[in-house]
Amino acid sequence: MDKLVNSAASFIKKMGNGVVLTGSGISSESGIATYRDKGGLWDKYKEGSTGGILTVLANYPDDAPDILSGFFESLYHGKPNPGHVGIAELEKEGFINSVITQNIDGLHYDAGSSNIYELHGNIFRLKCMNCSKKTSLSKQQFYKMGNKIVDHLTKYSFESIFDVLPKCSCKGVMRPDFVSFGEPVPDILEAVKEAKSCKFMMIVGTSGVVYPAASLPQHAKSGGAYIIEINMEESALTKQADIFIQGKAGEVIPKLIEKVREKSI
Ligand SMILES: [Zn+2]
Repeated sequence: MDKLVNSAASFIKKMGNGVVLTGSGISSESGIATYRDKGGLWDKYKEGSTGGILTVLANYPDDAPDILSGFFESLYHGKPNPGHVGIAELEKEGFINSVITQNIDGLHYDAGSSNIYELHGNIFRLKCMNCSKKTSLSKQQFYKMGNKIVDHLTKYSFESIFDVLPKCSCKGVMRPDFVSFGEPVPDILEAVKEAKSCKFMMIVGTSGVVYPAASLPQHAKSGGAYIIEINMEESALTKQADIFIQGKAGEVIPKLIEKVREKSI
């Protein structure tokens, strides 16, 4: 692995202008409940998961409070790991221009990254279903709201959770601003632009099966970018990668940065 880390580091240092694409793998290292990873929700609820988390909740009403409270707990307690922190450092030191993420947990912001495209939204942000106004919640506010939702789900019905959600000044219901299956993906055009113009793309913790995010490495490659993949296992994207480094983001990325910072490289 060290040899691969060295090659990736020397490329990052020489070229700069990189883009990082992250998926649930990096968040699962922070304890966030994930869908597609081994042991994630999709493993357990294969049958009813085709429409995303909302379908799982509707199809498994008895399990829904537990599923949601586990999800909320993990989001509330999740902290950026050395992978997130390392990505933020690469941005601060000028090697990467932006982070494109499929994660909704805001951990890249918590780690200190600033130029972030959240393709699937951010669960700590609410969006009015009527006028589209957005507002951000603190983790504490989110947790309180989450507890109320779980409580309603236990006592009443799935539909009743809409009664718990805060109201906008226009009286519309404000729901967490994440993208469900089949909904349009915000920021995708900007993300494609970033991918096409970067010198290298570092793919971290994504299986490469969810579109349109999964098409971004192809855009990067067609623009001549070098592809570095850091994943626990080979993925649908590995055949496009110039370097595949197998391992945890939280272990590989700090090693990579250490190498980038070495003078001799
Ligand atoms: Zn509104």
